[in-house]
Amino acid sequence: MVALAADVMAASDVRSVRLWRAPDNTRLVFDLSGPVQHSVFLLSSPNRIVIDVSGAKLATNFDQLTLSNTPITGVRSAQRTPNDLRVVIDLSAAVTPKSFTLAPNQQYGHRLVVDLFDQESGAAPSLPTTVATAPQVPVTPTQAPPKLTPIPNGKRDIVIAIDAGHGGEDPGALSPVKGQYEKHVTLAISKELQRQINAEKGFRAELVRTGDYFIPLRKRTEIARKKGADLFVSIHADAAPRAAAFGASVYALSDRGATSETARWLADAENQSDLIGGAGNVSLDDKDKMLAGVLLDLSMTASLSSSLNVGNKVLGNMGRVTPLHKRRVEQAGFMVLKSPDIPSILVETGFISNPNEAKKLASASHQQALARSIVTGVRQFFHENPPPGTHVAWLRDNGKITLGPREHVVSSGESLALIAQRYQVSLVVLRSANSLKSDVIKVGQRLQIPATALAAQP
Ligand SMILES: [Zn+2]
Repeated sequence: MVALAADVMAASDVRSVRLWRAPDNTRLVFDLSGPVQHSVFLLSSPNRIVIDVSGAKLATNFDQLTLSNTPITGVRSAQRTPNDLRVVIDLSAAVTPKSFTLAPNQQYGHRLVVDLFDQESGAAPSLPTTVATAPQVPVTPTQAPPKLTPIPNGKRDIVIAIDAGHGGEDPGALSPVKGQYEKHVTLAISKELQRQINAEKGFRAELVRTGDYFIPLRKRTEIARKKGADLFVSIHADAAPRAAAFGASVYALSDRGATSETARWLADAENQSDLIGGAGNVSLDDKDKMLAGVLLDLSMTASLSSSLNVGNKVLGNMGRVTPLHKRRVEQAGFMVLKSPDIPSILVETGFISNPNEAKKLASASHQQALARSIVTGVRQFFHENPPPGTHVAWLRDNGKITLGPREHVVSSGESLALIAQRYQVSLVVLRSANSLKSDVIKVGQRLQIPATALAAQP
């Protein structure tokens, strides 16, 4: 997009400045009354960054910014002409800047975003970046995930990546409770979930987001992959125009469109995150794009059935501690679930737009109960499907995992024989446990699975 001369002539106000610190970068967001053009350049000894904003006047000050725990030691400004603002950021360490502007959306007006990436010690400083307004493009991964070689007879932990939805300038859904945002609820539940998973032998939980900062959707799956995740669980809280809407839901990725209008609407709302927070200008490596796409589709189908399986187990257990919005795993095109090799689910823990549920979601005891139900579902899934080389696989192979009676909710495409095989019970036992006269089952039907001692798969 090219700014018209008229836009530049009429100066925009810089109305406020916000700062977010992430583990590896510092983000400055300038809230503007209109579009601007800008350039960013680096200066050394001492390290500082100059941001020239043409067509802008400063209508705020930088006093309220909390600079502790950031490489920023000070922020100064000067009005070079009535319409040309210069902002100088003093730094205690070299950083790699990246900047872009964002168009208005429901939550914010025009913004200029400057990300300052920490440099690893010894890394060569990057060239100064000058970035004009760049359109936001949806990003498709073109890189094959790194192969994790299973350790023969190893007993590694099963790794669960927990993704607390939203963060930083993307607050997520708003609550009728003053000061309560989805981003805070999701982080609190995620931390509790991590605590409980880490208490389980053979499991380890890794948080994708550890504080109040923004992470682009695609980056979230990238972080999970780097941590060697066996499962990706994205935690959210729902919102609906109707305040009475309530209940939890679990979503898996849909390969062909959403299973319901709600799912479609929600996928749009959750995918807004990148437009709100700004994924920046991501460079795409175009070579082998076709091949990558084909591989992506293939592996995605494989992990999709695992996602539905674990999703069903989580949903079934959540139904014991909170009302359910939908009784089956919904499918939608969530960007954050598009990890080709990692089974991924998105858990909507309840409706933060509902005053009653908002209150419950803020309470530690309800957060603990929700986390416990998610852990139970995840444990059941991995006890039945342990990745090779894990401690849980070793337990299963040595007949040390006994599963109590469980309930299975039939999802589409499942046959009784398939379910019997998955739970390693005989068809005869499964029929009699459910007093079935034939093998015809319906989607949504609840089946009792008798207790079994799991043995190694043939
Ligand atoms: Zn959300």
